[in-house]
Amino acid sequence: QAATFSNGSPRKTLVILGSGWGAVSLLKNLDTTLYNVVVVSPRNYFLFTPLLPSTPVGTIELKSIVEPVRSIARRAPGEVHYYEAEALDVDPQNKTVKIKSVNEDYEYEMDLKYDYLVNGVGAQPTTFGIPGVVENSSFLKEISDAQEIRMKIMTSIEKAATLSPNDPERSRLLSFVVVGGGPTGVEFAAELRDYVDQDLSKWMPELSKEIKVTLVEALPNILNMFDKTLVDYAQDLFKRDRIDLRLNTMVKNVDKTHITAKCGDDVAKMPYGVLVWATGNAPREVSKKLMTKLEEQNSRRGLLIDDKLQLLGAQGSIFAVGDCTFYPGLFPTAQVAHQEGEYLAKVFKKLYKIDQLKWEISQGKSNVSQLESKLTRLQNQIEPFHYHHMGALAYIGSEKAIADLAVGESKYRSAGSFTFLFWKSAYLAMCLSFRNRVLVAMDWAKVYFLGRDSSV
Ligand code: FAD
Ligand code: NAD
Repeated sequence: QAATFSNGSPRKTLVILGSGWGAVSLLKNLDTTLYNVVVVSPRNYFLFTPLLPSTPVGTIELKSIVEPVRSIARRAPGEVHYYEAEALDVDPQNKTVKIKSVNEDYEYEMDLKYDYLVNGVGAQPTTFGIPGVVENSSFLKEISDAQEIRMKIMTSIEKAATLSPNDPERSRLLSFVVVGGGPTGVEFAAELRDYVDQDLSKWMPELSKEIKVTLVEALPNILNMFDKTLVDYAQDLFKRDRIDLRLNTMVKNVDKTHITAKCGDDVAKMPYGVLVWATGNAPREVSKKLMTKLEEQNSRRGLLIDDKLQLLGAQGSIFAVGDCTFYPGLFPTAQVAHQEGEYLAKVFKKLYKIDQLKWEISQGKSNVSQLESKLTRLQNQIEPFHYHHMGALAYIGSEKAIADLAVGESKYRSAGSFTFLFWKSAYLAMCLSFRNRVLVAMDWAKVYFLGRDSSV
């Protein structure tokens, strides 16, 4: 795209960091003809995270829930440049961002200049600095995590199969522990139990009976963002399905074979064969560095933004969406990031008009006062972001789900098999592309007729 518009005004550069929920929702809704749009992300695809917990056990194939950035960019009305790179450092004074390629065969590092920057880098899994977590557990955030978990499960099962039934090492290898009773931990524990009961039980009937799935949660309940009745329903189902719930139990240390947890005054040591860690989010390095550069950024929970998603202290040139931010009342969910992206696309349309007016004023046109009042009017038209919470859904196993829905002021709660069908149709509808929708539907059909494919 040309560096200037037909009237001679410069085309501004908009750099978008990330290819997740926030960044892609912005990209899909943005009029890309109005800016030089540059996307920087180490991941050259969008990942539909709500179905990620279904992937390690083969309910859903990983390929079914990704959509290439290039295919999203191709559908945009204007040109979009993409760098398969990670942002290392943002310089808000000089308006540059340092990026580094993630491709070992094609290494480069460069500074990109921006007029506007949107930070949508998401968050990284938090460990709260608990010793041994990083070295010994798997997270569930990226495709590589799901692949790693699948490999560890299979290896543990095969190793255990070579040992005699009364060998304590066999029982350790068959202990699968999930730490964190938020929706990630709950959904994954549920998928794991389904896999053991519905598929593994057919191939290894004796061994499958020895598999123990444990969910460890520091608080008195799992799924704390859901209504109490739904939490009770989920906890009862877990008990019935033999998912060992360890509530009020806070993990303090992890070694190669055991976790050590505090439960009241007691300290328990639990063996594990596979450990999945899902205790929430922490800011990424690039966001942490940015925080140190702006005086107004004084929260460790995320980048502080105003009600128009502008980064505090960055004077309107940096915006942030999704999990990298902290704003009271906005939770780190796909729903929030998605709506923020949609909102920013509208903001950038208005900002383009504002910038055009500013340029006309700077050209010393005769009707300056008229242009200035038009400018003020346009600036006032940028309304704050309003989040519309539509509710929360979670899969809890045995083809059952819970739904805590909000329609206007009314709340609807449901749980069970019909809710599972609703959960399925809601997620199908939310898939990014028609291709994803077809693949996910085919995966579910495949599991129904043929069972899960969990070969590595
Ligand atoms: P992300 O979607 O995480 O995207 C961040 C992007 O930034 C990625 O493309 C990443 O590669 C890129 N990036 C990382 N570092 C850099 C860097 N240095 N430079 C440039 N780019 C970078 N929410 C719901 O509402 N419903 C659900 O059912 C749900 N299920 C979930 C299940 C799982 C297993 C997980 C982990 C999360 C789930 N969430 C769900 C939460 C939801 O996924 C997040 O809130 C959402 O992804 C946040 O969007 P985001 O754009 O901020 O970050
Ligand atoms: P979370 O923050 O929602 O839950 C983490 C849990 O880990 C908490 O309940 C916490 O008490 C527990 N915990 C922390 N430290 C612990 C310790 N040392 N020992 C034992 N337990 C410990 O994290 P999440 O589940 O990864 O979710 C992250 C975000 O993604 C949330 O905003 C969530 O709503 C969203 N998400 C939503 C869905 C869905 O809507 N279905 C699914 C997955 C994730």
